[in-house]
Amino acid sequence: MFLVTDTYHFCRGLAQIFYHLFTPSVTLQYPAKRWEMPERWRGVVRLVLDEKTGKGKCVGCYLCARMCPAQAIEINTIEGPDHEKQVESFEVDISRCIFCGLCTEACPKGAITLSRDYELAVYDRSGMVYEQEVLQQGPVIKRYTK
Ligand code: SF4
Ligand code: SF4
Repeated sequence: MFLVTDTYHFCRGLAQIFYHLFTPSVTLQYPAKRWEMPERWRGVVRLVLDEKTGKGKCVGCYLCARMCPAQAIEINTIEGPDHEKQVESFEVDISRCIFCGLCTEACPKGAITLSRDYELAVYDRSGMVYEQEVLQQGPVIKRYTK
C-alpha cells in the first residue's frame, strides 16, 4: 500500500517538474531584468515643468502639503519683485511618502505628479529628502545589478 502511495506522489512530483519546465515563468531575474511599470504606477513624486518657460508649474499654494497624509512635503515661499508668490524651496521626504497620489489630486496646476521610478533603496536615509531641483529633473536612480 505504501509503495503505491509513494509511487503516486513521486510521479505527481515529476509531472509538476516537467509542467513547470515547459511553461513560461512569471517571475523576473531581478536585478538583471526589470519590469516596465504600467502608466498609472505610483512611483516617486516629480514636479512638472512648464513646456513653454521650462520653469516649474508650482505656484506655492501649499494645497499638496496640506493634503499629504504623511506630512512628507515641505514648501517655503517668498514674495517676488512684483509682489507675486515665489517658491523658494520645495522638498519631499521620500522615506515618509506612501505614494498615495493625494498631492497630485489636490494640485490645481497639475504641477506635481507621480513618476514610474520605483528603485529608491539607499544606504543613508538623509539622501531621501528630495529638493526642488531633484524633484524637477528626477532622482538619479541607482540601478543595482547584483
Ligand atoms: S504621494 Fe501621498 S504621501 Fe507622497 S507626497 Fe504625495 S500626498 Fe504625500
Ligand atoms: S498644490 Fe501644486 S501648485 Fe500648490 S504647492 Fe503643491 S505642487 Fe505647488
